[in-house]
Amino acid sequence: MPSSAPPGGGGDERDLPVATTIDLHTHSTASDGLYSPTELVELAQEAGLTTIGLVDHDTTNGLDEAIEAGRELGVTVIPGIEINTDLPHGQGDAHMLGYFVEYGRPAFQRSLQMLRDARERRAERMVERLRAQGLDVTWERVREIAQGTVGRPHIARALIEKGYASDVSDAFDRYLSRGKPAYIPRYKLAPEDAVRLIKSARGVPVLAHPANIPHLGDELLPALLHAGLQGLECYYGEYDELTVERLLRLAGTFGLIPTGGSDYHGPNMHPTPLGGRYVPEDSLDRLRRTGEFNHKLPALDFTLPEPTL
Ligand code: AMP
Ligand code: FE
Ligand code: FE
Ligand code: ZN
Repeated sequence: MPSSAPPGGGGDERDLPVATTIDLHTHSTASDGLYSPTELVELAQEAGLTTIGLVDHDTTNGLDEAIEAGRELGVTVIPGIEINTDLPHGQGDAHMLGYFVEYGRPAFQRSLQMLRDARERRAERMVERLRAQGLDVTWERVREIAQGTVGRPHIARALIEKGYASDVSDAFDRYLSRGKPAYIPRYKLAPEDAVRLIKSARGVPVLAHPANIPHLGDELLPALLHAGLQGLECYYGEYDELTVERLLRLAGTFGLIPTGGSDYHGPNMHPTPLGGRYVPEDSLDRLRRTGEFNHKLPALDFTLPEPTL
């Protein structure tokens, strides 16, 4: 079955590919995407999408522009966020998406600012490490490349410019991934706290690209459900149909909304093109209804713990 067809075949023997109109996982220059919010929305319209979720890392600064461009071009932009967190016992990381966040809330913005400040310090230290190893990359250049939230992808681009890596994944493999010479750990954030942070802005928390997370069904999901998790990203860009089916079963077991998208950052970052993964209309309906429901509840009071970096 082509990856653009809905899982399960939907009873259509002819197995016709279904046009994708929804992509709930995209990034812009507000974080580590290559296209501005307006350009991203233009590309979405060209790809025939009616709805995108913009989920920049630790920032909502691209949302107003994207929503405005979407209004003009007939693309609905769902306000979102992606927050990277750490699993316990060095088991790697987990990314938390938040949809329909009320991003104007001052306390929410203060928390995001704190996460971005921690990113700046981390990226600066990573550049120091690279320089200590004799590589000619500068913090000034990395800051120039990053128009918004700074991240390892921007350091990667600075390395590529100087010929130290052939592309972004090469830069990660050589220098930037966990265990590699320039790696510095992130501000430690528990996935539960990312769920609470999203809930504090009455958003819908969704665990991103979860296929490789150890003990997903027996440990993490029960703990996150307790904290308020409401969705699981099942239809993720690179996942094969078996993986999607496995995640859909987990979402069913835990009553989570199955969401999905490409994780589009622009060319040469992630392999899936914008709108390159089928996401059913029903996912969007459930997400929207849950967002509306959350907005009827009082916002949870929550402040992030201070960084120790
Ligand atoms: P950071 O948020 O600074 O820790 O950087 C993590 C981001 O870098 C992820 O959200 C991805 O967009 C990107 N990334 C992580 N690992 C890789 C990799 N191996 N190749 C390309 N991009 C990556
Ligand atoms: Fe990213
Ligand atoms: Fe992610
Ligand atoms: Zn992402």
